[in-house]
Amino acid sequence: MATNGEILVDEPHKTFDTILTLDFGSQYTHLITRRLRELNVYSEMLPCTQKLSDLSWKPKGIILSGGPYSVYEADAPHVDPAIFELGVPILGICYGLQEIAWHHGKNVVAGTEREYGHAELQAKRVEGHVDKLFKDLEDDLKVWMSHGDKLGALPPSFHIIATSKNSPYAGIGHETKPIYGIQFHPEVTHTARGIKLLENFAVGICGAKQNWTMAKFVDKEIARIRALVGEKGQVLGAVSGGVDSTVAAKLMHEAIGDRFHAVLVDNGCMRLYECEQVKETLTKHLGINLTVVDASDLFLDGLKGIHDNPEAKRKFIGSTFIDVFEAEALKIENEAENSPKAGRIEWFLQGTLYPDVIESISFKGPSQTIKTHHNVGGLPERMMNGQGLKLIEPLRELFKDEVRELGRQLGIPHDLVMRHPFPGPGIAIRVLGEVTREQVAIARKADYIFIEEIRKAGLYDQISQAFAALLPVKAVGVMGDKRVHQQVISLRAVQTTDFMTANIFRFDWDFLERVSTRICNEVDGVCRVVYDLTTKPPGTIEME
Ligand code: GLN
Repeated sequence: MATNGEILVDEPHKTFDTILTLDFGSQYTHLITRRLRELNVYSEMLPCTQKLSDLSWKPKGIILSGGPYSVYEADAPHVDPAIFELGVPILGICYGLQEIAWHHGKNVVAGTEREYGHAELQAKRVEGHVDKLFKDLEDDLKVWMSHGDKLGALPPSFHIIATSKNSPYAGIGHETKPIYGIQFHPEVTHTARGIKLLENFAVGICGAKQNWTMAKFVDKEIARIRALVGEKGQVLGAVSGGVDSTVAAKLMHEAIGDRFHAVLVDNGCMRLYECEQVKETLTKHLGINLTVVDASDLFLDGLKGIHDNPEAKRKFIGSTFIDVFEAEALKIENEAENSPKAGRIEWFLQGTLYPDVIESISFKGPSQTIKTHHNVGGLPERMMNGQGLKLIEPLRELFKDEVRELGRQLGIPHDLVMRHPFPGPGIAIRVLGEVTREQVAIARKADYIFIEEIRKAGLYDQISQAFAALLPVKAVGVMGDKRVHQQVISLRAVQTTDFMTANIFRFDWDFLERVSTRICNEVDGVCRVVYDLTTKPPGTIEME
């Protein structure tokens, strides 16, 4: 395997035609990458300060993003001018357009009229034809703008390809080279036909193949993992039952079989029946080599006495997790050492996703340093350094929806692929106040009923995250003609695309009433149920 390593170990940007997006700090840059991927064109983002000579691969085309700066300011960021000599097509969006103009004659000025929001764009016809960038698009387009600066004049050797009322240079193109600039944002959904325009650029102009599919990625990634790990190498990883860790584990299993060791730590705060279910799915259905460590007593005993301090809960659970995981890892390592079939455990699997990578490399401005690498995420930093484990991150290039698609390709059941995120500390941060065995049992049962009803109603996939939390206050109720004084369950369900902001999910009243009745009837210790109406912000998605 390793002998063919040259091709096999290559990263996606070496095997798929790639559009490079250079980020000037716009809040929409990641959307450019996403939209291209939706078109099955592979795209990666790098900070605008990327030196071309440090790039080990050649993009099919380059997109310059928007950004909050003004190109004429002394400390404004600029691209490596070598990109204009590379001979690949370039598309500048907003700041990117202004950067192209700045490079070609420095004529960009502060505008008198800013344009924020919708604008009507007209693709300009030259001798009866619109430019390739507007191929198959209507002449009049609804676009979305967000700028205050503008070009003072048309740069030399460019012509106008689109205009709007306030922007005579809403679109420009070079007369002989494939260099384009547009003042509006095609990557946001408010620009009605923006995706088509990006397709015209990436496919029509750059000639990028639309071959980025998870079916192709699976084969290449499995080959890459095999080449990387070698014929005897072993890999260790934690699984939680969540989508990312399950998909990563299944991929590892496909690549190296039992030389991948998955560890599930039961912290006593998982959902009802979850540990058993995860074990069953991962071992029986997915064939993964899994060790389950029951450390629930250690966690639950340690959580006793932490009353009003969510951070202390999270910290205790985090550090105890590392202790338990590390101890188990040592055991597995010792066994592995003595096995004649395989070598030492050298690798640690981490389910980092592309949004984390983007977050760590996005351009934060001239005054701030740019983090170049995603940190190890807290987990086994001690193990990484102490025991010299190397990170393997097979999902590093993928967005969440791509991970789900990859999961489907790998035969992971639908319910697991579509699973809502679940926090590492689990139910412990959904039991407000002190976490005890009794409180966890109440929250678990209520949560189970809520999720079961959501599934029965066919609503699960429409909701991004839902759970029941236990509020440690007592309210009065009447049950069987008797006065009771018991706790309150708060239900939460939100819809979001990025988990940065979220709306509440609008259930119908009958549904909520049904859940409330079941919880009061079936969960001892609860006599009242409320529905949390807080959006994010100001609320967070989780309670603690
Ligand atoms: N800051 C620049 C302007 O105001 C570019 C804005 C942008 O890229 N959205 O014109």
